[in-house]
Amino acid sequence: MEKIQSLTGMMDLIENKANKADTANGIFYTEHILKDIFETYSISEIRTPALEDSSLFKRSVGDTSDIVNKELYSFMDKNDKSITLRPEGTASVIRSIIEKKIDNESNKFWYLGPMWRYERPQKGRYRQFSQAGVEILGYSEGIAELEIVSIICSINKALGIENSILKINHLGDKESKEKYCNALKNFLMPLSSKLDEKDIQRLNTNPLRVLDSKSSETQEILKDAPKINDFLTDQSLDLLNLVKNTFSEECNIKIDHTLVRGLDYYTGFVFEAVSSDLGAQDAYLGGGRYDDLCKQLGGKDLPAIGMAIGIERLSLLTKTYKKNRTLISFIIISSNLESKAYKIAHDLRSINSSIDIDVQLSDGSLKSKLRRANKDNASYAFIIGEDELKSENIIVKSLNDENSEQIIMNISEIENFIQNIK
Ligand code: AMP
Repeated sequence: MEKIQSLTGMMDLIENKANKADTANGIFYTEHILKDIFETYSISEIRTPALEDSSLFKRSVGDTSDIVNKELYSFMDKNDKSITLRPEGTASVIRSIIEKKIDNESNKFWYLGPMWRYERPQKGRYRQFSQAGVEILGYSEGIAELEIVSIICSINKALGIENSILKINHLGDKESKEKYCNALKNFLMPLSSKLDEKDIQRLNTNPLRVLDSKSSETQEILKDAPKINDFLTDQSLDLLNLVKNTFSEECNIKIDHTLVRGLDYYTGFVFEAVSSDLGAQDAYLGGGRYDDLCKQLGGKDLPAIGMAIGIERLSLLTKTYKKNRTLISFIIISSNLESKAYKIAHDLRSINSSIDIDVQLSDGSLKSKLRRANKDNASYAFIIGEDELKSENIIVKSLNDENSEQIIMNISEIENFIQNIK
């Protein structure tokens, strides 16, 4: 029979105890660290459904974005309603707070979950991938920008990421953005015969997005184009310098006036973190201010700033991953169901929360169980046979040192031993 395989660009993640450098392990570890960091900033978790009404993304992410133009996973449901697997998290968060009528409050939310985009799969680019995100709602430009960058610095530090640049830019307040878009349009229009079809379309719908063009000819033309910094107010330029100076010792921050970001809803401060260690898909997180989105989706006038972190790419940069917990492989050798031995393992777990005890559940010889313990990278095997059970002893075998002798310990010695494992 033909085997059923996973869909293109979608992967299974299976934790691998034996190989610490495994992709899935890195992803799970990275997610765990991110959740811890979000907690230290007192940010609340939010979970929204994976499926949304298709119009949510058309009205938020925008008709001119690549995501909405060609990457949405949209389907008609049984009721002939167009639904879409979310391609990003922000639109759903805003839909949710409007629906729950908390769009008049300030709040800080984080989320973590799968997103779907019908892209051409390659290294670092998948059709199903995970994003963690933070949305800081209800604060106008200022301290919230510092908080977002502070979180990014904390992530880099906790994961040991050194080779990275945090690019920041300002898309201007309403007036300067409009003036700049007009200037860019006036500059590019006479040259439109040299632009490809996609850039001409962008020029008409959202001229800022032309700065994002992948065409080398367009990029050549843009070298002489008006620059956004000539249109920014002192307040916008001051904000960029303030962010850069506040975190200059911790984060490699560069002001980059060509950074515009691919989504339509951004206003004001925008940013993207890149690392040359990632190859062609070098951005591992990005975001910005989106003060108009809530109102645009039918809610209150709620200023907001947020970011999305690509978990797969971030985990490739993670340097701190060490499974520093100690694993004890607990081996019961008996032909009976030894609930007493099992209960000993159960009780030992509560003595030291930084050790893991894996009771080997299978039948099998001591030899095969020791082989399994080694494969799992256990530091110790605790062995209980029928004799040990009677005498209330455990045989302790160190698996890290081939030459070490096994030791017999009684229960109170074992408790002491476990307590002292770091
Ligand atoms: P975006 O929502 O496009 O700003 O993306 C935010 C982050 O999500 C990017 O910096 C990437 O790290 C990650 N990302 C976006 N698209 C993909 C994808 N197709 N596969 C893997 N990661 C992605």
